[in-house]
Amino acid sequence: MASDVQTTVLARARDGSPLSLTTAVGDLVGVSEFAAGKLMSLGVMNLGLLLTHLPRRHEWVRARAGLEDLEAGVIGSAIGEISAIKVSGFGRKARLQVVIIDDSGEDSLNGGRQGRLDLVFFNQAFLAKKLEPGMSINVQGTPKVYGPGLQMANPTFTIVPERDLERLVGSEQDDEYRAVYPATDGLTSQQIGEIVKPVLGAGVDLLKDHLSDEFRKERSLPTLGEAYRMIHCPEDEDEVGMARRRLAYDELLLLQLGVHMKRAHLRSTMRSPPLPSSPEIDERINARIPFTLTADQAKVAGEIAKDLSQTTPTNRLIQGDVGSGKTVVALGAMLRAIAHGHQAALMAPTELLAEQHYLSISDMLKGSNTRIALLTGSMPADQRAAVVAMIGSGEVDLVIGTHALVSDSVGFHSLAVAIIDEQHRFGVEQRAKLRVKGGVKGGDEYSDETPHVIVMTATPIPRTIGLTIFGDLDISTIEHLPAGRKEITTKWVGPEKRSVVYGWAAEKIGQGQQVFVVVPAIEPGGKTSATLHSDGTAHGGKGPTRNLRDLMKELEGGELNGLKIAAMHGKLKRETRERIMHRFRAGEIDCLIATTVIEVGVDVPNAAVIVIEDADRFGLAQLHQLRGRVGRGELQSVCVLIADPKTDDGKLRLEAMVDSSSGFVLAQRDLEIRGPGDVFGTRQSGMPPFKVANPLEDHELLGMARRDAGEWIGRSARLDGDGEGLIRRRLLKAHGEWLGVGDVG
Ligand code: ADP
Ligand code: MG
Repeated sequence: MASDVQTTVLARARDGSPLSLTTAVGDLVGVSEFAAGKLMSLGVMNLGLLLTHLPRRHEWVRARAGLEDLEAGVIGSAIGEISAIKVSGFGRKARLQVVIIDDSGEDSLNGGRQGRLDLVFFNQAFLAKKLEPGMSINVQGTPKVYGPGLQMANPTFTIVPERDLERLVGSEQDDEYRAVYPATDGLTSQQIGEIVKPVLGAGVDLLKDHLSDEFRKERSLPTLGEAYRMIHCPEDEDEVGMARRRLAYDELLLLQLGVHMKRAHLRSTMRSPPLPSSPEIDERINARIPFTLTADQAKVAGEIAKDLSQTTPTNRLIQGDVGSGKTVVALGAMLRAIAHGHQAALMAPTELLAEQHYLSISDMLKGSNTRIALLTGSMPADQRAAVVAMIGSGEVDLVIGTHALVSDSVGFHSLAVAIIDEQHRFGVEQRAKLRVKGGVKGGDEYSDETPHVIVMTATPIPRTIGLTIFGDLDISTIEHLPAGRKEITTKWVGPEKRSVVYGWAAEKIGQGQQVFVVVPAIEPGGKTSATLHSDGTAHGGKGPTRNLRDLMKELEGGELNGLKIAAMHGKLKRETRERIMHRFRAGEIDCLIATTVIEVGVDVPNAAVIVIEDADRFGLAQLHQLRGRVGRGELQSVCVLIADPKTDDGKLRLEAMVDSSSGFVLAQRDLEIRGPGDVFGTRQSGMPPFKVANPLEDHELLGMARRDAGEWIGRSARLDGDGEGLIRRRLLKAHGEWLGVGDVG
């Protein structure tokens, strides 16, 4: 509570020196070496970090009540005398039941009912040795209704010695609204609160505000110091609300300032070669595309053509569902560069995808004089060196590759358009690295030249979030799939149906179709390639998974006996992979059992069945991508998910897959299931996570921050004006690195 906050004068470090934000936690009065160690394990090294170790939530602790006054669902504390103890069950099932009583019952004066509370401790039977009838204990917890009375499960408690009883029971106490901190084994939230309180007043006085009073007041925001005081020791919910508003706004503002600063910097210091359209160029490009663009594709192609005609570097995101036809649109952009005598590059997240792009684009450009090359990390060194040399000399026009494209040894002759496929698989740095690959060799006047950059993603993100993370990108959306696509039927079955599923798959093969089977791991006990998150950050679950090797044996000897089965995974050599994909495409293989290497890009219209084993191990984005391998031709496609999910989230993901085939809908579901906290601060963006803001909910603050940041950077693009030093430093500290604005100005 505010009244507990000590004043500046009183708070000094253990050695008597005045506090500073860099005072180590171990030097604070009253913080034991043990507690300091625990704080450090939470990343809290000094006073400044202690202040920014924010509560997870807040709760009312009602003043100590009589047992009769405890309320179900409301955390409270009370002192009572133990009247009964009972242990039941054994080992891990053991439970200890304790009854405490006091004289708060209505009729107690007349010798009637007493105040009574039931306590139950699971798995803590050892406590029975410590407690005995007649003892008084002070319990704290959230009671729930239990029979005619209330019960607390696993409450925290202290034994109250008789000599303290009178003093404690008689003392006056207020309700307290208190912070609940992320704690750790050995250091409870309450202990953290006790460490924060005595230094809070001095600490917040040391915080300098990066917003001027005038700026703050216009937006009704408290000072930074007030905000931290209120978040740690609020009087009530309103104070937490005010504090949260300021801290969330700050996070959003700093991010938006960074994004706008980067954009302004790019626009003012870099130029790209203008690639204007002409009827002749348009016609040549169209001649290469074997179908009519959909209305959405044409719209996006138009937006891109306009971008490319200017010297302002293009920075555009094309988002469209799996199979919506982003690649042909990107191809159009690349051909524009080539038509103007420049080079173009397409970077894919995996070797297999790069190979697939290389094959399909080579096919479309057959007979033209465009020179195409493939560059991947696993190519033999001499072959690689030859390609790199041709890229540098301008002997190739169009390069398709993996992140090998941005390695230092690669220098382009004249890169005008760079495409990044599946942007979510790359960090922001790769985009930045590709940017500096531009420029015409040997021409100093072009040293600030950068390619037009277009990124593509099939993992669409809700617009507000897109603007938050990718605020420096213009966004184009391909909403509808090309006409004539049949919706994929998705079924989820338990493992007991496995043999039925493969029997049915064998029938499909009998009808001339081909089948994909996806498993999480290559070998028994092997590492799984399933990732729960679209950015690849987490493994999908614990315990053994189905694996390629065993499944292949099973199917060869079982349901798929006599059919042509091949395995496909990341450990195979590139030539082997290419040969297998070629044979699969040519219909020489009936069933391809693969890991997630086939996740993106593989395009075989005759394969209309995909079976995904242990499907709950995969994240929604990944499942949706995998499903996108079918539904590419005239056939009615089916996706079968085999899974016995052990978690609620796993179930929700599978249900979402069955319910929807729209990547946009699934992206939204994914956010709901995972919560926004998970979505940010991942490799998807490289962005540090928000601690307070929630862009899914803080619409008003986000809008305000975007507007304010836009105006601010419009006035002062480098944030180097009077009084901007502090906000600039804080911005660079938070976002300089991942946004690549550290060296701006
Ligand atoms: P994405 O990269 O968005 O997943 P692709 O560009 O790989 O999608 O296109 C998926 C498939 O649809 C490819 O086989 C492609 O040739 C085909 N395709 C793309 N655009 C059209 C169109 N306008 N009409 C018919 N087929 C199309
Ligand atoms: Mg694609």
